[in-house]
Amino acid sequence: MLADRNFRLQFFIPPDKSFLLAYWPNDQKSLPERLGVSLTLSAVLECRYQIRTAPGKGVGMFAMEDIAPGAIVARERPILVAPLMLSWDSIERDISSNMPEHVREAFFALHNCKPPSFARVHGIINTNAINIDDMPGQTDFGPYVAVLKDICRANHSCNPNAIYRWDFATFTGALHARRAIAAGEEVSISYIGAHMPYAERHERLRDKYFFVCKCPVCNLPPAARAEDDRARQELTFVRGLLEAGFYDEFAPDVPKQLAMAKMLEDASDCNVSTWRAVAGKLVRAYCTLGERAEAVKWARRAMEMTLVDTGTDGGWAAVVAAPENTDVWRSKVVDK
Ligand SMILES: [Zn+2]
Repeated sequence: MLADRNFRLQFFIPPDKSFLLAYWPNDQKSLPERLGVSLTLSAVLECRYQIRTAPGKGVGMFAMEDIAPGAIVARERPILVAPLMLSWDSIERDISSNMPEHVREAFFALHNCKPPSFARVHGIINTNAINIDDMPGQTDFGPYVAVLKDICRANHSCNPNAIYRWDFATFTGALHARRAIAAGEEVSISYIGAHMPYAERHERLRDKYFFVCKCPVCNLPPAARAEDDRARQELTFVRGLLEAGFYDEFAPDVPKQLAMAKMLEDASDCNVSTWRAVAGKLVRAYCTLGERAEAVKWARRAMEMTLVDTGTDGGWAAVVAAPENTDVWRSKVVDK
């Protein structure tokens, strides 16, 4: 545990009236200065959801309109950012004395799944907080976490329709649709690694979040669930090959790339970088063959996954519009 004197509490109220309570190493820089990002942007915040009762689960997030794959469902500023090593006592004291009342009420209304042996603030942060990656210059202070008032309301599914992404440049958290979400549909994310088989997922969810998952995948009849387990385990094996650098050896041609895409689909895979790699290779293959419809289909998938991964289309929108403009177009077509 770090001594609290190593940290300076800073709070900041952007023009959108969202509120940020953050702990930063004890230098004299202001929070925006320290972050090197603008905290004055308010146009980036997006809300295409509502928070309401989810039968059997307390509260959940629901789409207010149809949302296309890759598009943003929600984007918001955190209400609390803190290094995990800071003492709960000091966080509790600062929430009580420094958070505006309406934000404090929202914080304490968040779900707390932890047993009474956890201090209340500790329980709420452990139930809801998300990790913030790539915090520049913070390596000495361990990982930071953020609490987001609405995004933390999204419930778990083992085949989620959304993926969480932290965007340091705007200092916001965002949920992107990983497939089409219909108006009124519940928005779900995965709290754990989706690659795990049923028994392991349940153990993890029970131990960390104290609930029994009843998502559509976990409610499958035994034979179908065993098949789902098999798909997830097969993908785990293949991903090991990919990470060891055997990607091209494993999937050098279109049928193998298509088999890989099916494997990702069957295993409800949430790893967007694997999806991007597979879709990108299929686009290239179909472009060299001059097969426009298939090239567009996979360029669209690559675009969706790149949006989820990076927040930009990565140039894929242009390929969706005109695959014939790529430099490999029909390069393997032999004119008769
Ligand atoms: Zn489940």
